[in-house]
Amino acid sequence: MSSYPHSGPPQTTTLRQRLADLRGPAVPPRPLDARALAALAANPGCGRRALLDGAGVDKTALAAALGSPAPFGQSQFAIIRGNSFEAKVKADGGAELLRLVHLHLGAGAEPPRAGTPVPDLTAAGPEGRAARTALALREATAAGAWTLLDHPMLALEVAGTPAYLEPDAVVVHPDGRWTVVEVKSFPLLDGSADPAKVGAAARQAAVYVLALEGTAAKVEAAEVGHTVLLVCPKDFSNQPAAAPVDVRRERAVTRRQLARLTRVEELAATLPAGLTFDPARPAAELTEAVSAVSASYAPECLSACELAFHCRERARAAGEATALGRSVRGELGGCATVAQALDAAAGRGPADDPTAAALLQAARLRAEALAEAADRAAAGALAAAETAEAPEEGACRC
Ligand code: SF4
Repeated sequence: MSSYPHSGPPQTTTLRQRLADLRGPAVPPRPLDARALAALAANPGCGRRALLDGAGVDKTALAAALGSPAPFGQSQFAIIRGNSFEAKVKADGGAELLRLVHLHLGAGAEPPRAGTPVPDLTAAGPEGRAARTALALREATAAGAWTLLDHPMLALEVAGTPAYLEPDAVVVHPDGRWTVVEVKSFPLLDGSADPAKVGAAARQAAVYVLALEGTAAKVEAAEVGHTVLLVCPKDFSNQPAAAPVDVRRERAVTRRQLARLTRVEELAATLPAGLTFDPARPAAELTEAVSAVSASYAPECLSACELAFHCRERARAAGEATALGRSVRGELGGCATVAQALDAAAGRGPADDPTAAALLQAARLRAEALAEAADRAAAGALAAAETAEAPEEGACRC
């Protein structure tokens, strides 16, 4: 998957200039790609990420300048291994890939034959490739035959500007259905894979589904499948296996989030004039700039955002309950910080707050259990001491 730079989300010259100032004068805008869009959907409450991504800030460089670089992304070895696996899956005109699509999502259609069309999608620039892809999709749907689009280019309107996205493959079915196929290098063990990796892949694929829907709306009889196919190595071999993944939920969340991306204009408007995320500025100034935008750190950020180490440090320093995990944060209700939760457990929480009452009750039960355990341990120790002191029966007393 890759993407191409876009000119950024600004609608006006003033905003364009403002976002350029936020990035830094010498920093070109970072492209929005499916991974970034999917990560936004995974953390809908983070204004910091929404602004930085919307402004095209280079978060990797920013994290390094803040003194908290995050080892993020795949290793070179993993990239090479992934590319080699993808080449294997797509060898012979994509015969194996098409076989897997038919096997899992064929819906009773005739299997693809040898020599299934794989249209040439080369064109100048991302706009040209996206237009070529749209034409190929239209022709394949009209032909009513299996067609494989290898690395098509899709355009998705984000905050008024197209982002260009490149899934691993899109397969057109004879009935006009379009299926997104993602080739991943993590293994399928006994038919299932690491749920976190599958979740990330599903969110990424949901972005492609949304992009395809924009094209499908203009093509008669076209329909975008909401079940995508993940193709992964089987067990610990290099043999391809596949798993269909329903991405309806991820699609809905991503769609909602992308609509919220327009907030970049509002977020930028709230920042003081002169504030910048230019990685060339001193760390202290950047720390202050980043703190000016609200964040919503959660441990999930560690696998999705370049600023994770910086935000984690800040969240811990502020005692934010969300740093313990979203589920813990959800359980704590109105207690947004660890200190508030401890206060509630000590009986100093709001009298009418059910979460505070539950925490107080839990603290009482814990104290009782600990006291009982301590009593039992003391009784056991006393009995052991008495046994040790008592003379053994039949022992000589002289
Ligand atoms: S690491 Fe920070 S900026 Fe990134 S999503 Fe999490 S809270 Fe937001």
